[in-house]
Amino acid sequence: MELGIKGRWAVVCAASKGLGKGCAMALAQEGVNLVINARNSETLVTTAQQLKALNPGIDVVTVAGDIGDTQVRAAILAACPQVDILINNNGGPPPGDFRDWSRTDWLKALEANMITPIELIKATVDGMSERGFGRVVNITSGAVKAPIEVLGLSNGARSGLTGFIAGLSRQPQLVSRNVTINNLLPGPFETERLESALASEANISGHSLKDVTEKRLSGVPAGRFGTAEEFGAFCAFICSQHAGYMTGQNFLLDGGSYPGTF
Ligand code: NAP
Repeated sequence: MELGIKGRWAVVCAASKGLGKGCAMALAQEGVNLVINARNSETLVTTAQQLKALNPGIDVVTVAGDIGDTQVRAAILAACPQVDILINNNGGPPPGDFRDWSRTDWLKALEANMITPIELIKATVDGMSERGFGRVVNITSGAVKAPIEVLGLSNGARSGLTGFIAGLSRQPQLVSRNVTINNLLPGPFETERLESALASEANISGHSLKDVTEKRLSGVPAGRFGTAEEFGAFCAFICSQHAGYMTGQNFLLDGGSYPGTF
């Protein structure tokens, strides 16, 4: 299927590895020009080279820095001739017990996983609306639908973003102008983040990595972890010209892990 987004410009945040990179790769294959971001500039430049190799016809611009930093966000927006597609992504907050979290810990999580994407949306959606095309995809987590107890900071901050998006995405001045805002909720995907989470679980529990991995997989009816490539392909479809009638949705990509009907 021709996605109809060749020549458009996308900002993909936190995109040097994992799910963000998967989205950038899928958009590159569709001929979308990219501004990509992550903190480590060396890894980011390597990813940019891989994206160019995938599609030499596109422009790929890198802006290194913490996406939570106002100046980094300003540099990203300045580097993009026009933002047609915005993929909001960031690292996730650390696990823990809510009794140990201070007000500062909460503010950090809210800043990273709720306010940062909202700031980028605020800076871009009205321009998208004027031009009559825009796609915003927020990478959140399956934990929004089925909270993971030790990830309370993530459950809280991402649910706040989700509630806000549910209202904003239905504004007639956006959706009637072909601007959609949707959320992607990953279950377990084979990325560095998942690898390190499994390794630390093995370390803490004293069980082998193999046992911890098998236990985790036993909760996934698909019998495997997801790949960044399939995550990216789904994201690219949401960003396509065909997806203009779909907004405010939360798409769970979890290999059947969530057991509910809705
Ligand atoms: P990952 O493989 O660790 O990749 C994270 C990417 O984000 C890297 O490119 C990293 O590069 C960048 N990054 C991290 N913090 C950043 C910051 N402050 N500013 C800019 N870039 C930053 O992680 P992932 O698995 O793709 O996860 C992506 C998001 O999905 C996370 O929020 C995670 O919690 C969520 N999620 C993942 C899964 C899963 O199974 N993988 C499941 C549910 C939710 P630098 O380190 O160089 O900045």
